[in-house]
Amino acid sequence: MSILGGLEKFGIKADEKIDLFEDPKKVTAKAAESDTPAEPVKKSESEFVLDKSLRCPVCDKVFKTLQPKSGRVKRLESDRDLRPRCEGIDIMKYNVNCCPFCGYTALSSSKYFETINANQKKLVEEKICKSFDPKSVADAYKPDVREWDYDTAIALHQLSLYNAVVKGAKTSEKAYNCLVLAWLFRGKAESLAKDPEAKDEAAKCKAQEAEYYKEAYEGMNKAVATENFPMAGMDQSTVDYLLATMAFQMGDTSAATRNLSRIITSPATNSKIKEKARDLKDEIIASIQKTQQ
Ligand SMILES: [Zn+2]
Repeated sequence: MSILGGLEKFGIKADEKIDLFEDPKKVTAKAAESDTPAEPVKKSESEFVLDKSLRCPVCDKVFKTLQPKSGRVKRLESDRDLRPRCEGIDIMKYNVNCCPFCGYTALSSSKYFETINANQKKLVEEKICKSFDPKSVADAYKPDVREWDYDTAIALHQLSLYNAVVKGAKTSEKAYNCLVLAWLFRGKAESLAKDPEAKDEAAKCKAQEAEYYKEAYEGMNKAVATENFPMAGMDQSTVDYLLATMAFQMGDTSAATRNLSRIITSPATNSKIKEKARDLKDEIIASIQKTQQ
């Protein structure tokens, strides 16, 4: 019996082998050893989304989809190419509206979903609705599903891109859809980064990000030459800045600096974008100097 066996009446059970005069430093060191860093509590995305009811402009049925709760979502510093980042949720996953009855799908922002003319509707009915299988999206629209994984979000955004092609949408709409897909693949790669066994999958995501990025870049450049601003909800200087960041990421520094100069010299540009443009210009100059060394 331990010399402190009588402690039981307090509900405390002393260790069997007790070293009454153990070095106090050792005692506290043991406590520090057993301190495993607490895993940060990862909040589920479901806390940040709510139901939104929509009427499909093609089949006229009403359905519920998920959208971020604007009041609860805390914005963080966005990626350089303006990809929004938020605490606990990737809001871009929910940037799509898909009618689970007929398959008509479009980006949720800038009223892309609601705006469809009679001819476009005909094309969607013919090329999408006729062959659409509602079972393919049923899981994402179950009432108890409160969060979409990246694969679901990517599939729905690919469907919205195909709808955009079918209905002859504006170049900027298709280009922005490609950009969102690139961001989603980036998000998926980031979510896989901690898992060493998912290295190959993460690399595939990065490759797909690059593919969609290239399409988005080409499309946005084409849109700038043929459409009026605002474009995909962005004014000219925001699009110029976006194109500069994309050009830089893809290694085209001369196109990047051309876009940045336009922003910096334009009197109409707001000071926040100007500041971002100057920072990026400095970074580009530094990277050019580095390669010349
Ligand atoms: Zn529909």
